[in-house]
Amino acid sequence: MGRRHRYGGLAAAAAFVWLAGAGLAAAEPAGADAEVSAPQAAAAADQAYGERKALFEETSTITGIRWFDLAAADQYERTMNFVKKRTPGDGLVAVYFSPEDWAGLANPDRTDTSPLGIAAFGGKGLDGNGDGRADRNSDLDRLAAFARQITKFGTDEENFRIGLWEYYQNNRAVERILQFSKIYAAYGTLDLFTHAFPLPLGADYSYRDTWGASRGWGGDRIHEGTDLFAHHGVPVRSTCYGIIEVMGWNPFGGWRVGIRDLNNVYHYYAHLSGFSKEVKTGDVVKPAQVIGWVGSSGYGKPGTSGKFPPHLHFGLYRDNGLAEWSFDPYSHLKKWEREERAAGRKKK
Ligand SMILES: [Zn+2]
Repeated sequence: MGRRHRYGGLAAAAAFVWLAGAGLAAAEPAGADAEVSAPQAAAAADQAYGERKALFEETSTITGIRWFDLAAADQYERTMNFVKKRTPGDGLVAVYFSPEDWAGLANPDRTDTSPLGIAAFGGKGLDGNGDGRADRNSDLDRLAAFARQITKFGTDEENFRIGLWEYYQNNRAVERILQFSKIYAAYGTLDLFTHAFPLPLGADYSYRDTWGASRGWGGDRIHEGTDLFAHHGVPVRSTCYGIIEVMGWNPFGGWRVGIRDLNNVYHYYAHLSGFSKEVKTGDVVKPAQVIGWVGSSGYGKPGTSGKFPPHLHFGLYRDNGLAEWSFDPYSHLKKWEREERAAGRKKK
């Protein structure tokens, strides 16, 4: 217990230095649309996930923040770096501080690395790896500084929520991080970016690129998504590791499910005939897990069905921290279908 809140403690410093060295060479694996196809790239990604998790666990030991809460906040920062085109610094950690945030708003030296100087100007920068410098490019310095900011009120669940609210002043950010945290806690790994096709590959289905068509089946006027035609009752499966954000009736979508993944992308499944009893709102799901069945519900009051041929309407929406916008899922569906087919062949 004595090590808590002592970022520069000797034992901590030794561990941090070793980890910092191990983290330097690894590749960034979890970009929002990262393609990891070559075997070398996949191996590098596995290694990077392991090294990054070790960084979170070490910071957890020292600061008391739970590793999956830290992982979740770091992943949220990664998704914001992607949409805001920010570059957080070198290394594996995505946590971002602007130079003025790090050094202090009134600090004339925006590249200040002196912990005392930064503290004097009210900057957020800290020395996490015990080298005497608060370096905005260091994974451990950034993590320690970030952990201190978001655990100002404590590290238990309630105070973590308050700390996040205080830091982001944005309910969406808090909600996302708590969702990510639940996913990481459930699986105990950072390696959660594989996908599945929403329908069983052996089922009889067809789909084509209908993005922006003037209208879809039982959808909005401008069609935002892909319609996958299949028989009534064909299983509908989660396309990702994620958490069920929405499950219920929507006048257009009928019985629909919304799943949030770790890239802060919302996977939307509409017109279902029913939901799996195994899952409910707030549950964590994995790729290919059954969430419901193909139907033709929608376009009316709850229970309305049969106004169009049965199909799965599948949509993808990206969160930029303030709002969401849809993007064409067709190429992603093609890719997941291809990948799942290839993985199936390998197993035989
Ligand atoms: Zn549709």
